[in-house]
Amino acid sequence: MMETVASWMKESTSTVVLTGAGMSTESGIPDFRSKSGWWKSIDPRTVASVESLTDDYALFREFYQLRIEALHDIEPHVGHRILARWEQQGYVQLIATQNVDQLHQLAGSKNVAELHGNIVTIRCTSCNKPHSKEHFLNNAVCTYCTNHLRPNVVLFGETLPQDAWNRALNAIQHADVVLVIGTSLEVYPVNQLPMMARGKLVYINLELETHATGFDAVLQGSAGEILTQLDAYL
Ligand code: NAD
Repeated sequence: MMETVASWMKESTSTVVLTGAGMSTESGIPDFRSKSGWWKSIDPRTVASVESLTDDYALFREFYQLRIEALHDIEPHVGHRILARWEQQGYVQLIATQNVDQLHQLAGSKNVAELHGNIVTIRCTSCNKPHSKEHFLNNAVCTYCTNHLRPNVVLFGETLPQDAWNRALNAIQHADVVLVIGTSLEVYPVNQLPMMARGKLVYINLELETHATGFDAVLQGSAGEILTQLDAYL
């Protein structure tokens, strides 16, 4: 199956990669299903929400402070680097990611659509003016209007950035191959994207998720391992 997927990629004129939290676990960032880390004591789906931002800013800020600080020593892994090289070699045209850690960009990928924004950049909750990460980490307020600061991340209850969504949707609809990597496909609306594909649809994941139906090929394993093996066939 690995060889077949590689042959689809070689023949493809447009390949799109859709990634989720499982793409970053090998760099040391836990996904939502992990039994370790912050998620053990806190339900991210509750705190990473519009309600939490408006009703309990202290908890909201602490949650994102921990997540931002946890990125400090984190580096892209071999899988991120292979995807970045595939872009240079013409094997990949776009990465659409649910990840907010910017590890794809750090690995060198240029064409990245951040479907859920990122936690690396900060803005004011009211006037939207950009601020430094340090401002947010120091619990400072907006220097223009003194309102709270927040990361440029999409919270549960918010709509996705139109630009990133349209880019991803358009690319997926016109792609010859779509690689879906490290996502449980549980989070709406990104979980709708794979079914918009008309080309070959490939699922690369550690677990065989029940939501993952309609794929032309399933490669079970870690992203780093599977991408390394695929790379050897290209
Ligand atoms: P998820 O936690 O629901 O699912 C992750 C999937 O990845 C699981 O099916 C798991 O089996 C698989 N997986 C874990 N490690 C893997 C590996 N090494 N290789 C391949 N597969 C692996 O994540 P999701 O579907 O992305 O949705 C959850 C939401 O979490 C998204 O909205 C995302 O924005 C957010 N999130 C992002 C980060 C990040 O930026 N790194 C981390 C946690 C959560």
